[in-house]
Amino acid sequence: MSASTDFSVAITGAGLSGLCLAQYLTRAGIDVHVYERDPGPFVRRQGYRIILDRYGLAALRESLPRPLYRLALATGDEPGGHLRFTDRRLRDAFTITFKDDPHETRQVDRLTLRSILQSGLDGRIHYGRAAVAVDNGGPAGLRLRFSDGSAAAATVVVGAEGVGSALRAQLMPDADPADTPMAGIYGRSPLWRDGASVIPDALRTSGVLSIADRPGSAFFFTSMRFGESPREAFSRLAPGSYAPTGDDYVMWALLLRRDELPPGVRGDLRALWHVAARMSIDFHPLVRRLVDTAELDATVLNLFATGRRPHRWAVPRATMMGDAVHVMPPFGAHGGNTALRDAALLGHRLVEARRNGTSVEEAIAGYQDEMVPYAFHAVDNAARLMHRLTGGAAAPHWVLTRVLPRLHRVTVPEA
Ligand SMILES: Cc1cc2nc3c(=O)[nH]c(=O)nc-3n(C[C@H](O)[C@H](O)[C@H](O)COP(=O)(O)OP(=O)(O)OC[C@H]3O[C@@H](n4cnc5c(N)ncnc54)[C@H](O)[C@@H]3O)c2cc1C
Repeated sequence: MSASTDFSVAITGAGLSGLCLAQYLTRAGIDVHVYERDPGPFVRRQGYRIILDRYGLAALRESLPRPLYRLALATGDEPGGHLRFTDRRLRDAFTITFKDDPHETRQVDRLTLRSILQSGLDGRIHYGRAAVAVDNGGPAGLRLRFSDGSAAAATVVVGAEGVGSALRAQLMPDADPADTPMAGIYGRSPLWRDGASVIPDALRTSGVLSIADRPGSAFFFTSMRFGESPREAFSRLAPGSYAPTGDDYVMWALLLRRDELPPGVRGDLRALWHVAARMSIDFHPLVRRLVDTAELDATVLNLFATGRRPHRWAVPRATMMGDAVHVMPPFGAHGGNTALRDAALLGHRLVEARRNGTSVEEAIAGYQDEMVPYAFHAVDNAARLMHRLTGGAAAPHWVLTRVLPRLHRVTVPEA
């Protein structure tokens, strides 16, 4: 279908939700442009791996051309696996087992996913354009303004700029996110060392949350093994698109209280790594080895926040998706999935309105009415889980770290 000229969508942010919506609308022949603040597509390490659940996978299936969806599955880790909750010595408290179905849960490399989501959008993603505001007016109805003084006309504007959204204060004036007391220092280490996996066989397909005795501290790790090498899979299914390296790795995160972060540590990768090294000393030797072998330039600090339910949407033809609306702590792995779900839902509503000749404002309002309940259900769950698992609730913490591990065998002996 060729792009129609009387209706156009401007999206701010080429992250997971922005690119997913752009794919959906492009497939339906709608004129769409994405404006991204970063100066280029791969200037930042893109957050390691992400677990896609059935909502995230369904959104990708609905939005992407078939070969690109197959590419996401082909390069992903094997389906299934476990999430283990352990004490600080990696003794099991309890385990969740994921369904062994490729369309239910799938771990994918985030950089690879982003490259897949960018494929085929040539000329539609504009880098180095930081959105600052939306005005009424211009030939299409709205004007999206950028920090460099330039502007773009569009019928509909969608804010998808993540947690630090610049448009939120204008479009959802009552919904600034709230800080939580917790933060995470994320790192990445090679999975293979001298030809052997650094993760023992017993944990090969497991994500592990190792909970410290002391409330407010835990360590998470999981390995990412590429199914098919991105280079081969891209050349088969998306020739010409950028294929990331495909080296298997372990992603880890030290979870700590914000007030334990030394002042000025933000943006100082070495200082952040030192905090992670110091605070992982009481954990299992495997945990300490992961921190010791980290790739320094992949260190990231994430200050956990929770979105607040919007009650007023200030501009009828402008809306928002993803972390910009409903950022959540990373417990339960729903942030990216909910963002992708938003994109497919909004895409569906807009395409349906265009097809039936019905009101775009109503389509957007319908999206908002459906999105807010499921997204804030996920936010509430993530906040509750964080509270329980990091010791905000004393009794569950005691059961997790002192009672349940005594009932289980030692999973990884301390060599
Ligand atoms: C280490 C890590 C692991 C995670 N694992 C999981 C997981 O397993 N499962 C899961 O569901 N979620 C996970 N998440 C959360 C998930 O990554 C986010 O919820 C998701 O990326 C949100 O998507 P988004 O489209 O809202 O925003 P983002 O993907 O954050 O994209 C926002 C984009 O907007 C751009 N931008 C910012 N400001 C502007 C501006 N003013 N103008 C234009 N562009 C702008 C940014 O540069 C960025 O490219 C993880 C997060 C991290 C950090």
